[in-house]
Amino acid sequence: MTDLPGIVVTGASGRMGQMLIRTVQESDRARLVGALERPGHDWIGQDVGRAMGGAEIGVTVTDDPLEAFARAHAVIDFTAPAATVEFAGIAAQARCVHVIGTTGMGEDDLKKIAAAARHAIVVRAGNMSLGVNLLVQLTKKVAAALDEDYDIEVIETHHNQKVDAPSGTALMLGQAAADGRGVSLDAVSDRGRDGITGKRERGHIGFSAIRGGDIVGEHDVMFAAAGERVILRHVATDRAVFARGALKAALWGQGRKPGEYDMLDVLGLGD
Ligand code: NAP
Repeated sequence: MTDLPGIVVTGASGRMGQMLIRTVQESDRARLVGALERPGHDWIGQDVGRAMGGAEIGVTVTDDPLEAFARAHAVIDFTAPAATVEFAGIAAQARCVHVIGTTGMGEDDLKKIAAAARHAIVVRAGNMSLGVNLLVQLTKKVAAALDEDYDIEVIETHHNQKVDAPSGTALMLGQAAADGRGVSLDAVSDRGRDGITGKRERGHIGFSAIRGGDIVGEHDVMFAAAGERVILRHVATDRAVFARGALKAALWGQGRKPGEYDMLDVLGLGD
């Protein structure tokens, strides 16, 4: 039991944090060795199982990432951009695999993570589910097959607590569509239409975000032409799909060469 890879979960009290803790606990391929929260959080010092309202599991919530990561083979991190950038440096120092599910990162954040990945194994994906990563590949293929007569729109729907838009997944799908068409996403992306926007430009890729209730995550990629539409859709009904994907990434990362990987690498879905 004790030689199973040890996992630390950051943002332990978060929606994904709690799901990850349950997923690692239920796995017979890994063991939970740490749970992290920010300094001052009321879970610090408590057993994480108890804090989650269940039985004691023998792991105390800490606010010291270096000490926690030093005991781990992998860190699974679904928190916030500033925290994830800090954790990337510490995970590299501690020589553990850093699995990043956090979305909404800016260019500067991504540069810092790329710098950490020169010495560390980082697996980062805006969506860790098998279905969405398959959808990414399908989107790329369909975008390559259909010309600019087909307007591409990415529509995403999430719960009312989500703080960033478009979702990391929507951006992955937009990037896949742009790759399929052989264009730069920055050059063709239409985000946040409002007011007198003018007609839709040919070749652009549009993004729309819907927020409400407790929706886990839905993504449509629409290819709309005169007289017909093709819609590729993924619906997540349970956060466990992201947690299982993240744990799979943590195990896959063991013993790899330093670098930044994504779920297509983990799932063997790359080109
Ligand atoms: P959430 O419920 O708000 O959880 C975020 C957790 O991170 C909170 O517990 C938060 O603590 C903690 N945190 C923030 N800053 C921290 C810091 N400096 N140190 C330690 N902990 C810190 O959000 P969520 O729904 O779980 O989502 C978290 C992230 O994962 C988001 O970026 C979301 O988009 C992403 N996500 C990705 C996937 C994927 O497959 N890649 C799937 C689902 C979600 P406080 O409450 O104290 O701020």
